[in-house]
This record gives sequence, structure tokens and C-alpha cells, in this order.
Amino acid sequence: MRKPIIAANWKMFKTPEEAISLVNELKRLLSQVRAEVVICPPFVDIPGVMEALRGTDLKVGAQNMHWEAEGAYTGEISPPMLRALGCTYVIIGHSERRQYFNETDEIVNKKVRAAFAHGLKPILCVGETLEEREAGITASRVEGQVRKGLEHLSSDNVQDLVIAYEPVWAIGTGKTASAEDAEKVISHIRQVLNEMFGERIGAQIRIQYGGSVKPDNIKELMKKPNIDGALVGGASLKADSFSKIACYSVE
Ligand code: PGA
Repeated sequence: MRKPIIAANWKMFKTPEEAISLVNELKRLLSQVRAEVVICPPFVDIPGVMEALRGTDLKVGAQNMHWEAEGAYTGEISPPMLRALGCTYVIIGHSERRQYFNETDEIVNKKVRAAFAHGLKPILCVGETLEEREAGITASRVEGQVRKGLEHLSSDNVQDLVIAYEPVWAIGTGKTASAEDAEKVISHIRQVLNEMFGERIGAQIRIQYGGSVKPDNIKELMKKPNIDGALVGGASLKADSFSKIACYSVE
């Protein structure tokens, strides 16, 4: 059984002070949560969030990182730095990184490999644009991102991998893929993982849906057999909406 994983992607929101007050509320609201919950704040908020969450089961992740352990890369953050802060997860290849910071599948692959090499669990983001969906190439586009993003990795590496399927047209737009459409793409991703790493590993890897996830659509998504959780942007910025999502029930 795959344990559901609900992750909060705060993007470039919340000062350190705001971050601490939000996680203090979440701590209270999520004390009984059954899913694995991961909070991914901006880098500068991580130490305060980590401290506030000490002693809870809530995990902390970063939203990006460089692939090198150290070096002359002004403005970048390395995997060992994230480890030293206590991060468990790192989001890799978010569509905003691909779109605004020119992250290619090759860069994404370097980062995914670096995450594993340094004991961080990557949340690898994939997803098609509206043009790609309308051209009918969603499956091949997403498959290509998965295959390239996971190049040179073996089945021993990828058990802790999380994939987030996030259609670009659904991010921050209020438009969600229907649970059926999301399940269709996500089950295709699982088939690709089965081919790449074998069915035993393919059955262990958790695949999230992301893109305008809200308290009122999480249930339908989580009812689908291949959808193992959600990567939540906008609705993760308020304790009330994020806790409702994380404490979803499928009954
Ligand atoms: P959204 O963002 O929930 O605001 O659509 C999701 C994401 O970008 O991860």
C-alpha cells in the first residue's frame, strides 16, 4: 500500500515570521492527519519552519536546489545545505522552474540524481501545456519528461521517488483536470515506471496530482486508484484550506 502524500508548495510567499505562524496553525489542525504531509517553504523560511515542526510528523522540503554539492554558483543552494537543515524532500522541475528559469529535462535529471545521491527524496514534476493537450500529445509529452528526468537511475534508487503530475494549464488557474483525466495520465506514468524499473518498484512509487487542488476536489482525486496525493500551491497558503485537503476523506 502506498501512503498518500500531500505536499504544500508555498512558492515565493511568506516571510519567515508569516511562515512560522502558518505552521503553528497547521501543527494544531494536522495533529491527527493520516497522510504524509510535506511543507515546502521558501529557503529562508526553512530553519524557522523546521524548528516549529520539531516533534511532529510533518516533513519539510525545498522547492528547488542546485545539483552540485558546492561551488562557484552565485545565488544557488546545494543538496548538503538542505540536508543540514533537516529537509526530507525537494521539489524538482516544477513547471515554473522549467518555464521561467529554463530548466530542461537534462537539468532536471541532474537534480533528481543529486537528490538521491545526498539522501533527499525528489518530487519530480511533469505535465503538459495547454497547446500540447490540445494537440493530443499529453501522454507522449509526460512520458518523455518521466523517462528523461529519471535517466541513469536504477530500481534501487527510485523507491523513494515521488512524481507530481501537474498539467501546466491547471496550475494557479482554478481549472483542474477532471479526476478521470488525471487518473488516465497518472496510470500511464505508472506503466512507464513499470517498464523502466519493474512492476514491484512501479507499484511503490507515489504519484501526486497538482493543479488547483482545493478542499472541494481532493476527494474525487483521491478516490482514483493511481493518485497517491496532491501537490498544492495556492490552497496551501492558508491553514484552513490546506488542512482540509490534507485531512481529506474518501467516504
Ligand atoms: P496551484 O499550484 O495549486 O496553485 O494550482 C500547484 C503547483 O504549482 O504546484
